[in-house]
Amino acid sequence: MRVPGEDIDSLNNRGINILNEPVRRCAGCGKKTGKSEFIRVVRLPGGTGEVAFDPELKFEGRSLYFCPKLECFKTLMRRKAPEKLMKQIIPDFIRDNIKSYLSQTERVQMT
Ligand SMILES: [Zn+2]
Repeated sequence: MRVPGEDIDSLNNRGINILNEPVRRCAGCGKKTGKSEFIRVVRLPGGTGEVAFDPELKFEGRSLYFCPKLECFKTLMRRKAPEKLMKQIIPDFIRDNIKSYLSQTERVQMT
């Protein structure tokens, strides 16, 4: 049985490999698990450097995955992960979108 949100490493330690999707790593806390557990920011193709918040994993492009947690987002910003992984900064308005999205989902989880 899989515990929701359980780390892929602990699943592997228990000899369980049930993920039938690509594994990704959180740019904040470093947790590894199936990509559908993460949300992401994408640098859209076409060379414009345009960045999109992509919680539904719809877009193509070089992307930055992270847990749907404010804490992980803050950590990855502090580490300059967007510059390192996407070669692009996240514009302020997208940062604000992400923060309000995360504060909403965290509030829902707490109730
Ligand atoms: Zn994380």
